[in-house]
Amino acid sequence: MALEIKDPELAEMFAHGVYFHGHLCPAMPMGLRAGLIARKRLGVERAKSKELMLLSETGTGHLMQCFLDGVMMATGCTYGKGNCQKLYYNKMAFVLIDVVEEKAVRVAVRAEFIKHALEHSPFMKKRQEGIPPEMIEPEIAEAAVNKVLTMPEEELFNISDVYDYHYVYAQEGPPEFCTSCGEVVFGSKARVKKGKIYCIPCSGYKD
Ligand SMILES: [Zn+2]
Ligand SMILES: [Zn+2]
Repeated sequence: MALEIKDPELAEMFAHGVYFHGHLCPAMPMGLRAGLIARKRLGVERAKSKELMLLSETGTGHLMQCFLDGVMMATGCTYGKGNCQKLYYNKMAFVLIDVVEEKAVRVAVRAEFIKHALEHSPFMKKRQEGIPPEMIEPEIAEAAVNKVLTMPEEELFNISDVYDYHYVYAQEGPPEFCTSCGEVVFGSKARVKKGKIYCIPCSGYKD
């Protein structure tokens, strides 16, 4: 089965997304669509730097954590740049903030969709049996992906109105150098012991 993606931006993101994510599954493409929808609602491009902030309500230890990789790909909000934070609610939802315009939108996967998928989706059945996504037959994975890529957005997501949101990034600190290992440690994470500066691992402190 060939995947047909009409929106050229979504098609490009899908290709990069699968490469980045590592396997074919429906949750990552759902994240792509949700991230694109959030960006369109806010009228913003992918984040080049910290003009957007992503507060992801996903967490660990649940079936559909893959969602966040798609949201990161579509919004340009990434862990590395520091404009993505996980809230560990183990929910399939996120808030995307336009830091410059002080606006935000929340997108959540609809409970009805999840309920239906848990009961009827062959891909989800296999996942519930504990089969890792990369071991599921490609035809089954592709069918699940096709479905989430072509479903009307209102059947997949609850999308909030755009609302006011004031977000301030924590200040970045200057570089310091650890007395023990000599490595650089930035700002607020440098620790002082007997008047000397250490990184956290060398300091013996927990944080
Ligand atoms: Zn996945
Ligand atoms: Zn050190």
